[in-house]
Amino acid sequence: MNLILFGPPAAGKGTQAKKLTAERGYVQLSTGDMLRAARKSGSELGARVAAIMDAGSLVSDEIVIELIEDALSAHKGAPGFIFDGFPRTVAQAEALDAMLAKHGQQIDRVVRLEVDSQQLMDRIAKRFAEEGRADDNPEAYKVRLDAYFAQTAPLVPYYEAQGKIRSVDGMADVSAVSASIASALA
Ligand code: AMP
Repeated sequence: MNLILFGPPAAGKGTQAKKLTAERGYVQLSTGDMLRAARKSGSELGARVAAIMDAGSLVSDEIVIELIEDALSAHKGAPGFIFDGFPRTVAQAEALDAMLAKHGQQIDRVVRLEVDSQQLMDRIAKRFAEEGRADDNPEAYKVRLDAYFAQTAPLVPYYEAQGKIRSVDGMADVSAVSASIASALA
């Protein structure tokens, strides 16, 4: 089972991906986590993406596609992949389909977590206060939301055309959202 957890930043994708990993052994592939790790390690890639990430913009398709390509090869034989924060553009989605096909696989489900804008803002303000992530500051978060609506939302018709999208109420509590995801994957 290969699935995409889809939704705006702060929709709860990371939380749900970690639960699915713990419960089913799927491998979580979060490009945001990979990029943050690259920055932490002081790599050349990390330095290249730091300012873009802090401003809330998307890094280039080439960079994230290469990260995913490497991760897929590194986890050959995994029982499933959870794509979290990837793909974020139609070009990334097309590249993902092609990469999976090379491994004899495909995306089976796209689970869309629906959360209204007010609740997203409330969550992000709380996370900024607790964790202090630079791109959670209100200005950068607005850029991230704008990027989501302009560049990522067009993936909804892309996956609808493939009949793979299931929508889930992302405003319920964490365990209720998990239960809805389990039904969406059944
Ligand atoms: P996230 O933790 O998924 O919200 O990602 C944090 C930041 O990393 C984003 O705001 C982007 O700057 C960058 N990023 C993560 N995933 C992608 C992606 N698939 N495409 C482009 N940029 C990404």
